[in-house]
Amino acid sequence: MAEKVLSIANSITVGELADVLNLPVTTLIGELFKNGIAATINQRIDFETATIIVEELGLDVELQKKEVAAAAERPTRELSDKAVARPPIVAVMGHVDHGKTSLLDSILGQKVVEGEAGGITQHISAYQTVRKERTITLLDTPGHEAFAALRQHGATLTDVVIIVVAADDGVKPQTIEAIRFARTANAKIVVAINKIDKEAANPQMVMAQLASEHGLNPEAWGGDTVMVEVSAKTGQGVDQLLDMVLLVADMEELKAEVETSAEGLVIEAHMEIGRGAVVGFLVEQGVLKPGMFMVAGTAYGKVRTLEDFTGKAIKEAGPSTPVTVTGFKELPQFGDIFQVVKNEKEARARAAETRKEREDSAASANVTGADILKMMTQKHEAADFNIIVKADVQGSLTSVIDSLKLIETGGEVSLHVVSSGIGNITENDIRLASDGKTIIYGFNVELPPAVKQLATRERAEVRLYKIIYELLDDAKNSMEKLLAPEVVETEVGILEVKGVFRTLKDEVIAGGQVVTGKITPGLLVRMKRGDEGLGEAEITSLQREKIAAKEVFEGDMCGLTLKTDKKTLLEIGDHLEFFTREVVERHLA
Ligand code: GDP
Repeated sequence: MAEKVLSIANSITVGELADVLNLPVTTLIGELFKNGIAATINQRIDFETATIIVEELGLDVELQKKEVAAAAERPTRELSDKAVARPPIVAVMGHVDHGKTSLLDSILGQKVVEGEAGGITQHISAYQTVRKERTITLLDTPGHEAFAALRQHGATLTDVVIIVVAADDGVKPQTIEAIRFARTANAKIVVAINKIDKEAANPQMVMAQLASEHGLNPEAWGGDTVMVEVSAKTGQGVDQLLDMVLLVADMEELKAEVETSAEGLVIEAHMEIGRGAVVGFLVEQGVLKPGMFMVAGTAYGKVRTLEDFTGKAIKEAGPSTPVTVTGFKELPQFGDIFQVVKNEKEARARAAETRKEREDSAASANVTGADILKMMTQKHEAADFNIIVKADVQGSLTSVIDSLKLIETGGEVSLHVVSSGIGNITENDIRLASDGKTIIYGFNVELPPAVKQLATRERAEVRLYKIIYELLDDAKNSMEKLLAPEVVETEVGILEVKGVFRTLKDEVIAGGQVVTGKITPGLLVRMKRGDEGLGEAEITSLQREKIAAKEVFEGDMCGLTLKTDKKTLLEIGDHLEFFTREVVERHLA
């Protein structure tokens, strides 16, 4: 663990980094220069580069990406006196198998269905339930990716976190992660000690763990953390849990403006045949209605249909309501803020503005981690693995790309995501991949027939997958093919020179005795005088008793013709070491 942890943004100027590290700018510039980067004080470097440089400098500092959640960037507004009470937004989190899904089932009185093709579930599922005539909005992060995404994008959304801990299993890594999340999100914590119907259940043990190791002191013991014993299986304690959630939320005085343009967060986005872009929102303020113009990130459109979380058409959606809308012309990104605007013109202009901003900020990190790694490994010539990734939803796309980046190649192969996006493979993708050096990976998307024809014509490589691990395996195999092959040399014998008959510019004819091993024509030779190397050669012909021989063995006397790359004066007593050299394909760990 480094002594000091510093948070920096996604990219930072050399000058700023020097400031943060409390180092002279010249030291940093020098270090960058050593790594082949001629940087100025105002040059932006990305997070990865900064990390590499800090490591190279041997500083006892750990850099951490500042989590500038899109949502967190929004200024918190002063609420007017027209603000109304809104339902609390509650995230249900906990270690896998501790019963999150079962608890949601029990609360909602329905089966929560989660499709987990390839284990990717990055979207946030949102539901609502009513308890004592009060609505509660529940967020579920079905996969680990979704959890990470909520942390990044939805932290400011969450009012209360229900941390589900199985009474027969206790605190586990994802329990700790959930506690950490709740704290960074400034959310209230309610612990649901689940599975108390089980014989092995030991709620006291869970409480003790939480109290002694994680600073969560149970109310029952005089602390201030609400802990409720529940069984998602029998339903025991579930109502009480909801009552406690409401009670805890009430201490927050949760309110939102309604007389303002609707605004919120994109929590899910995917394409559907016949419906186009289907987008999940969590409305945070204002009231969303069909027919309104909306913009989210680089996407805009007009609300065509508005549905509640059960898929029922609704006429309006106020604060804390999860909804599904159609009508976007393209897919916004998971985590984008959506806003309602006056008309289509404004929506389009706002989307264009965001696009420009994103392009600029992508371009603003002019030295990237990939660049620096490439420079560092250029000595052994890093190969490029160029890909285009298309996926059905933003969450999958991010997961696929992130997982690809984790394939460890020791810096020998650098991954370049030439382009990425949501939706089927398009003609444009094919054009980008027609250089013969780029592979298109499609995850849960299709290659429409017309595009397929173009792909064949352009000889573009398209690989479609439905299971992420298969896609990753394929990518790994393809990357292995790019690894510089390993050269394996095997010693096969040694000969001592007993006579030198002729020495030409690039040829030596000599005779000698095989000391060990077996010698055959075609073998490679290291010529040595004691320890000193005289150069390499190749046996072009081999004779025993002046007759061409296919092989000679230990103890045999023989004559040989060696092809050398420079004039080599062999002497009696020199040694010839014979070996083979093979090129072997390598594999990634
Ligand atoms: P998740 O991974 O946190 O969503 O956990 P699940 O809801 O999928 O539950 C994991 C397993 O624990 C399933 O086999 C559930 O049937 C079981 N389970 C969940 N809650 C309870 C409970 O209160 N009592 C018992 N006996 N089993 C439970």
